[in-house]
Amino acid sequence: MTRRVGATDFSVRAALGRGLLVLLAYGGLLLLLAGLNEYHAVDVLLLAGLPMLISAWSFSFWGAGLGALASLGAALPFVPPDRYFLLIWAGGGYLIVGLGLALWRRWKNPVRKIRPLAQLVFKRSLNFAQMIDHEGQVLESNDRAVEVYGAPRRIWEFFHPDDQARVREELERAALRGEAGPLKLRTVSQSKELIPVELKFVRLEPTRQSRLLLEMRDLSALAELENKVREAQARYRYLIEDAIDTLDTGILLLDKERKVIWANRTLEKFLDLDREEMPGLEARRALAGAKQLFKDLNDFENVVACETAPFLFALRHGAGEDERILEYRSLPVSTERYKGGRIDHFIDITEKQRLERILQEKTKRLEESNLKLEEFTHVVSHDLKEPLRTMAVFTQYLIDDYGPRLDGEAQDYLNRIHRASLRMRHMIDDLLKLSSIGTRQENLEKISLAEVIEQLREDLKARLENVALIVPPTLPTVFANRTLLLALFGNLISNAIKYNDKPHKQVEVSWTPQGAFYHFTVRDNGIGIEERYLNKVFELFERLNPRDDYESTGAGLAICKRIVEEYGGRIWVESKVGEGSAFHFTLPVQVQIQTPSRNGATPALVGQAY
Ligand code: ADP
Repeated sequence: MTRRVGATDFSVRAALGRGLLVLLAYGGLLLLLAGLNEYHAVDVLLLAGLPMLISAWSFSFWGAGLGALASLGAALPFVPPDRYFLLIWAGGGYLIVGLGLALWRRWKNPVRKIRPLAQLVFKRSLNFAQMIDHEGQVLESNDRAVEVYGAPRRIWEFFHPDDQARVREELERAALRGEAGPLKLRTVSQSKELIPVELKFVRLEPTRQSRLLLEMRDLSALAELENKVREAQARYRYLIEDAIDTLDTGILLLDKERKVIWANRTLEKFLDLDREEMPGLEARRALAGAKQLFKDLNDFENVVACETAPFLFALRHGAGEDERILEYRSLPVSTERYKGGRIDHFIDITEKQRLERILQEKTKRLEESNLKLEEFTHVVSHDLKEPLRTMAVFTQYLIDDYGPRLDGEAQDYLNRIHRASLRMRHMIDDLLKLSSIGTRQENLEKISLAEVIEQLREDLKARLENVALIVPPTLPTVFANRTLLLALFGNLISNAIKYNDKPHKQVEVSWTPQGAFYHFTVRDNGIGIEERYLNKVFELFERLNPRDDYESTGAGLAICKRIVEEYGGRIWVESKVGEGSAFHFTLPVQVQIQTPSRNGATPALVGQAY
């Protein structure tokens, strides 16, 4: 803490104190001299008076010496030579007391004790330090000040012209009060560089105005840093504002008293308002201009009340313009600065709603046409099957009843017609199965695949004779439709047997978990598939081997593909001609039950295709 010394401190009170000390000393001397009784006290007073006065004003070491000499000189004319010894007593007494006190003061003053060190600190300080007199004349500069501001001169000369008057004022204040500052001003270095400084004047001696210390701290680095921070903040702010301005969403920032802090350009556009006029206004007043745009005034009330639950509202712009549908969301602000405030979002969902409507209409139309198509497939298939059945039955009659009477060629023709009609019936059945997949999500149930395979073993008993069907000890449980799973595994296993020319036929079912799916493989050691047909085999009615087997319609793998895809999985095949094929497919571990199919339409179950 700095000790403030008032103006009266050094001028009157201190002088009085010192004068009193001197008086005591001389009073004692006076009594001594008076005790001698041979000289008039008035002479002694005269002898002592002058040094008393001088020492009262200055009690320094030099003051004491001067006082002694002066007392000798002044007393000389009044003292007869034979009494000079009295003069020596008086002067010597004063000298001893004065010198003693001066030495005592010096010894007591800690500043003087550390003076050499303080001098060093002053010289080497990293701050600028100048010893000046009360008129601003530089008495001594430290190294740093000399280096930057050059040779000492009047202190205000190295301040910026606009700041010089202030420096003089502060200097005067410091001379009077003992201290001035800290304050921030600009200096100019000898290389004409502007250096901002923080400065402080301190009077060095409490009783005298003549010597002061001017200490200055270089603020350039700090100022540069401040500038950088300010620049960065501004850049950041503009960037954020730009980003928010270019949003499709209208943004309104309110403080805790619901007064507008800021609104973005999009909101200005939505509500036909001038955002420059909004800050500082209460929300109701700020948005008043947009009130007539609200189709329902309740919505306006909800907006200005910062309704916390999101809601949709309609805005009417000029005639001929479409209505704009906005979604309003008000969120609380959590940052310290605007705590209690809110950020209101105005999201334009006009286009989204329009697209949603279109999508809904399209979905509805698609559902209707699917339903019609399904009905059509059913009707057509059943209607087609009827004449086919007649054809099959009557060709069979022909073969049975008239076959022997016909020649070989005619019999062959009849047989071909009969087989073709049977094949066509199977094809129609397959078509029906295929078209009914995807309508059975509602039949999802937890199905143990081990049970599915067991049932297949039973169903395919005859075909599995002399076939090694290898099944893993455990098989997972899946959510699916039992009939579809029987069709899927049944088709693959019966194909593996059907397209196999080896004496020891082998079919192996295996599985591994694969993320959210199970990966199944049905592998055989059959005839294999040429690489170019690997994808083709999954197409409808695609048969690679011309077989005279009417049950082979080329729809089995198409049905498998449809089933797997229906559950969100995929199917593919790896094969080597002559060595065998491996049909891979995935089924999800957890099946998402999708929206139930057509309203109320009871889907036909897929029959077993194997
Ligand atoms: P389909 O068996 O009724 O002919 P699929 O759709 O089941 O019809 O099979 C299509 C074709 O793919 C078959 O005709 C056959 O040529 C070929 N294929 C299917 N499975 C195998 C298999 N395991 N090995 C060799 N070829 C196969």
